[in-house]
Amino acid sequence: MKRERLRGALIGCGFFGRIQAEAWSRIPEVEIVAACDRDLSRAREVAPRAYSSAEELLEREPLDFVDIATGPESHLELVRLAAQRGVDVICQKPMAPDWTQAVAMVEAAATAGVRLILHENWRWQPWYREARERIRQGLIGRPVTYLIRLRRGDGGGPEPYRQQPYFRSMPRLLIFETLVHALDTARMFFGDIAAVSALMRRVNPVIAGEDHAALLVRHEDALFGIVDGHRFLTPVPDSPAMGDAFFEGDGGRLHVTAEGHLLHNDRLIWENRIARGYRGDSVWAAQRHFVECLSNGVPAESEGREYLKTFAVVEAAYRSAAEERLVSVREILS
Ligand code: NAD
Repeated sequence: MKRERLRGALIGCGFFGRIQAEAWSRIPEVEIVAACDRDLSRAREVAPRAYSSAEELLEREPLDFVDIATGPESHLELVRLAAQRGVDVICQKPMAPDWTQAVAMVEAAATAGVRLILHENWRWQPWYREARERIRQGLIGRPVTYLIRLRRGDGGGPEPYRQQPYFRSMPRLLIFETLVHALDTARMFFGDIAAVSALMRRVNPVIAGEDHAALLVRHEDALFGIVDGHRFLTPVPDSPAMGDAFFEGDGGRLHVTAEGHLLHNDRLIWENRIARGYRGDSVWAAQRHFVECLSNGVPAESEGREYLKTFAVVEAAYRSAAEERLVSVREILS
């Protein structure tokens, strides 16, 4: 029997919560019945019933899931609140401020028997899904190496990150906040990451964390690649893909351009024509996937326990940079 529409509530209605709310409005299987933000006026903008406290929201609303779009420092507390009520959770990245809290989130959900799915939209950008499919079909032969470059120019000058000013005081910034997306996307392409060697530095002196990093990662099957990022130059204008990616195999090269097009050996083979939504409408695609998984009871690609493998690479990268050595991801996971 087909289920009714899932009743969801959005917690956190800031910059990204509003993007998620817009994507939910285009998913007919879901109704966002209520919203919560410490700033009540923000919650009022996205749902018919608004709350400033998550406790009150969960007390009053019969819900199938909550969608948490607050920053990482509140995630464990909010996951615990939802778990106590038996409500499934979708939660934004970064998963948590540290490894201990990330593991506690997964355990709180498991103990209560609720789902915890991380909102990781990057791997849902259509050019990456297409590239993965083509690589699987043998377009470049046996993959040998790859380079994913994340680029944006919003972190320069005395007032960087105007859209997300909280970035300025984050002690861990680029790897934790942004390159985590690319690491997760690399896992989607080539499986789990076994080890990482990281270099990082702060270039803009007005911020607390790092804004330049290069990560050499080795996958479990020995393939290795590079994830490299910075946000203080504008070598390319902000673009749909926020950077580009190169995949090389023993039978050719595939380039995902900053505009989201695919070039095979420099020839255009797939054109990005998606004009709506966030970065190739990846938020909508990710949310659709979550709904299918919640409705059908099948695991999501970014189920909490599975996503710990991405978060562990982030942790390993910071340890690598601090200790100037290659760090095995097992050191974090065990
Ligand atoms: P924001 O500050 O604009 O919005 C967060 C909102 O959450 C604020 O309105 C705040 O009042 C509210 N809030 C915080 N704690 C709360 C609590 N306990 N209860 C109720 N409301 C609470 O931040 P943002 O830029 O929207 O980022 C939110 C999250 O989304 C971050 O974790 C960020 O990393 C992530 N994000 C992800 C992507 C992506 O591509 N996946 C892009 C941007 C931001």
